[in-house]
Amino acid sequence: MTEYKISLMPGDGIGPELTDATLKVLDAVQQKFDIALKMIQAEAGDLVLEKRGVALPADSLQIIKESQACLKGPVGETAADVIVRLRQLFDLYANIRPLKAYPNISVANPNINMVFVRENTEDVYAGQEFTIDNNTTLCLRVITRKNCERIAKKAFETARFRNNKKKVTAIHKANVMRITDGLFRTVCQETAKQYPDIQYNEMYVDAASMNLIRKPDDFDVLCTCNLFGDILSDEAAQLIGGLGMAPGANIGENFALFEPIHGSAPDIAGKHVANPLSMILSSKMMLEWLGERYSDSKCLMAATAIETAAVKTLATGNTVPDLGGKTTTIGMAEAIAKAITT
Ligand code: ATP
Repeated sequence: MTEYKISLMPGDGIGPELTDATLKVLDAVQQKFDIALKMIQAEAGDLVLEKRGVALPADSLQIIKESQACLKGPVGETAADVIVRLRQLFDLYANIRPLKAYPNISVANPNINMVFVRENTEDVYAGQEFTIDNNTTLCLRVITRKNCERIAKKAFETARFRNNKKKVTAIHKANVMRITDGLFRTVCQETAKQYPDIQYNEMYVDAASMNLIRKPDDFDVLCTCNLFGDILSDEAAQLIGGLGMAPGANIGENFALFEPIHGSAPDIAGKHVANPLSMILSSKMMLEWLGERYSDSKCLMAATAIETAAVKTLATGNTVPDLGGKTTTIGMAEAIAKAITT
């Protein structure tokens, strides 16, 4: 049996609750499919900053470097010191955020099935901020051809692989940010020519934010730069039951990190009501990635089993209050784990 080393970062706020819930589900698939995931904890985040004076300590970084993938809970105020840094350090250039309407929960449209393919390392999140004087600050928007090419290619490959509408929508504001988004648009158009089997269209970011509400089932793959993808994916999550339904993956050439798209939700931390699906479905994405990377059909089967069990659990109503049920975060995870093993 192949053993995969996974670095595990529970994070802040609801992070540890989501992590416990996800581990229950991963235990179930390991048993059922004879997979071994060796989880090694790597601490990072607000509490670690308080305790050790640094949000992402060197020993945690070392654990992550020695692992094959990282599973991470949300981090609070120190998110920029942790996740933005990890994305840059490991060159995790693609942020993949699938948003799908599952049955038996309140959604805006039952046919929603889209995925954001968001550039993850540059734009205004490159950390290039400056103080000119007391009254003037500056933020550099970095957009490079290399990263536009990588993200556009990823978007078209995703559209091809998904076998959904086979459509890529590039989202930008090139009519105003003519140089930076102009480059992004040009590269998306060039890339589209290499994928004649994939339908290609463009939308200004303001129109995209409107159309996500107006006709969300029109979208398939949304290709965006860093800032727009961050904002629009939170908006789109509200259409499918909230941020608790939204998993994410940060993918590089040689490493990947999986985490919910939301923050640490301090308003509900410790109340055991958080929807665990954001992290459970992130772990499903991790198994898919491991399965594809190491040609391991057991991991692929385990990923499918997690989603099937989640759908079954949503049908029973054994869910957290956010989804209309009465159970706890861990209670919902136990129901999913049981649906996997029985
Ligand atoms: P942070 O400062 O860490 O980014 P935040 O509260 O600003 O946290 P989020 O954590 O993203 O932002 O949460 C936004 C809203 O979504 C909050 O009201 C939160 O309770 C809710 N939320 C986020 N994740 C979940 C979840 N898994 N289940 C239920 N509600 C959630």
